Amino acid sequence: MSRHVALDNQQIDQHQLLIGNQTLQNLALRAGRTPFYAYDRSLISQRVSALRAALPACIELHYAIKANPMPAVVDWLAGLVDGLDVASLGELQTALNSGMPASEISFAGPAKQPAELAAAIASGVLINVESPDELHRIEQLCEQLQMPARIALRVNPDFELKSAGMKMSGGAKPFGIDSEQVTILIEELRDHPRLHLEGLHIFSGSQNLRLEAIQECQQRTLELARRLTEAHGKPLHSINLGGGLGIPYFPGEQTLPLAQLGENMAQLLQEHRDWLADTRLVMELGRYLVGEAGYYVCRVLERKHSRGQTFLMCDGGLHHHLSNSGNFGQVLRRNYPVLVGNRADQPAEEAVSIHGPLCTPLDIIAERIELPRAEAGDWIVVLQSGAYGASASPAAFLGHPPAVELLV
Ligand SMILES: *Cc1c(COP(=O)(O)O)cnc(C)c1O
Repeated sequence: MSRHVALDNQQIDQHQLLIGNQTLQNLALRAGRTPFYAYDRSLISQRVSALRAALPACIELHYAIKANPMPAVVDWLAGLVDGLDVASLGELQTALNSGMPASEISFAGPAKQPAELAAAIASGVLINVESPDELHRIEQLCEQLQMPARIALRVNPDFELKSAGMKMSGGAKPFGIDSEQVTILIEELRDHPRLHLEGLHIFSGSQNLRLEAIQECQQRTLELARRLTEAHGKPLHSINLGGGLGIPYFPGEQTLPLAQLGENMAQLLQEHRDWLADTRLVMELGRYLVGEAGYYVCRVLERKHSRGQTFLMCDGGLHHHLSNSGNFGQVLRRNYPVLVGNRADQPAEEAVSIHGPLCTPLDIIAERIELPRAEAGDWIVVLQSGAYGASASPAAFLGHPPAVELLV
């Protein structure tokens, strides 16, 4: 079995995994109970610095809150990135509460409700418009409220981000305005008294680990943005090029080569410099900033033997960590990197399956994974858990308490 890259970078002291230099025992005491999530703020900072060092200096970094909306995490990131991207009224409030200026917040997402649009207009954030109908609803609201709106058109390109974990562009999609419809709207918006067209938003997909696919998508995105800017007749204030950078979840997956990504981007911007001189360029990232900084920690309650197999029965499971269970859009379930947290430097001795407390066979933490022998009371730690964890899980299912979240 190939070893997981994420396992090689962990800090260990006296057999215990350290998170943000603290032992699991200390963190468990701080949490007051298991299971809990711990997010390491220094790893988040390191990731932002690494991106900034690799990417051309003019690229602005936005954090897409949906990856991890814990307010403390958002507040921490607000001090590191250039802007925040939200996709609901709740996220908008979290973003504004962080102190990030409204001018640097954008609001994307399909089926925005009237109260969400009104809050976005009143707050002065940039609204990424997802359909012609939504544009007209914004126009009516502006009329009612007697307020202007800052808008960007979210474009559904006629191409897709190849080999993305989740594709969100190309073909018929609930996201964005088909690229062939965009020029008509740009015409309609010319000199509009209340709707101020500031930019374009072209987000094609997420969780991509293939450099060539990302590069091809960035190139096509810039070409599309140039054609649409020509239709606009003057430079746009900002273009959001999307993101899609993935992290390695499974054995055999490799981290993206950031330096190469940055060099290619610099080259691309050089080719497009004539029409981009007065336009701000944004990349929006979620999991890439927070995914590897997060750990899900639960406890073994018993070792169970059933017809030749060993199960570690734990207090944590899919109600806290749906994506780890394999039920958040995955086609084939594979194990996230998992450690016995208090035996983190010990060699694997046995193959076990790790299950949670829910009455469903879907409640899998790991299947047939090679680990040191774990006993009742030991900690099971799931790595790469900082994105699409607590907030992306059905916490109410079966009525157990939610996972505690710590930023350390
Ligand atoms: C989900 C989403 C993101 C974040 O995706 P990641 O894979 O976490 O980077 C960014 N922008 C939009 C519009 C999204 O829907």
